[in-house]
Amino acid sequence: MEQIKRWIPAGITLLAIAAMMVHGPIAQLAHYHEFADSRTLDGLPNAADVLSNIGFFLVSIWGFWALRGKTNLPSIAAAWPGYAVFLGAVAMTAIGSSFYHLMPNNDRLLWDRLPIALACAGLLAGAYADTHMYPRRWVLPTLIIAAVASVVWWSITDTIAVGDLRPYLLIQGAPLVLIPLWQWNARSPRTDRMAFGVAILLYFLAKTFELNDHAVFDALGFLSGHTIKHLLAVAASAVLVASFVRRANVDERSAGFGRITAEHQQTKARLLRQH
Ligand SMILES: [Zn+2]
Repeated sequence: MEQIKRWIPAGITLLAIAAMMVHGPIAQLAHYHEFADSRTLDGLPNAADVLSNIGFFLVSIWGFWALRGKTNLPSIAAAWPGYAVFLGAVAMTAIGSSFYHLMPNNDRLLWDRLPIALACAGLLAGAYADTHMYPRRWVLPTLIIAAVASVVWWSITDTIAVGDLRPYLLIQGAPLVLIPLWQWNARSPRTDRMAFGVAILLYFLAKTFELNDHAVFDALGFLSGHTIKHLLAVAASAVLVASFVRRANVDERSAGFGRITAEHQQTKARLLRQH
């Protein structure tokens, strides 16, 4: 059973890739750039959708600041390169998304999607390192290349005919499926599973608001579905950063003998036995 469990993530990944190949190109929704809230604030166009990105920047700064000097601690060291890419990409999302929402079009959307794909790559690589005894070094650079390629593929196919979102959707969907499976396999600490579980729920909630941009704006009158999507995505990244910071702080305070560290060490020991 343990052997089968270990192959489930790879099996699902291959199935998803095969299903996407059979399905054929997935195009962007029609009228994608027509957002509900186009109000201007002091000359700033689409102000709510632009300004609601500030949270991404703040979460990233908070993460780097709170984790400074702690990234060599045993509970976070292996996963840090991936999580650092995630934090960097979250800050870049603030810039890319603001740039896009100032004047929404496909050329600018490239700069919104690129950091989002990179954030997914970093998160995947970090969680992979958290849940595998001997994480392979090539995973992070490979995921970064795949993330960039997924957005470039959409952009290039968009200039030829219809932009194909399949690789980008794969890289966005991967953390939602693979991270819980890896954590299940590794029997990760409950705190880690909870943090990712809450972040995934917030992500789905964000997607729901995104798809109901106009209906939410009509109902509320002061906030659109897309603005709320930004805020919920900020909250999801904040939950993850909080879990990394908590882990490092407990590790630091207990000098390696804390409960969370002990749980991580048990996880690693279990993985070692499975090997
Ligand atoms: Zn947006």
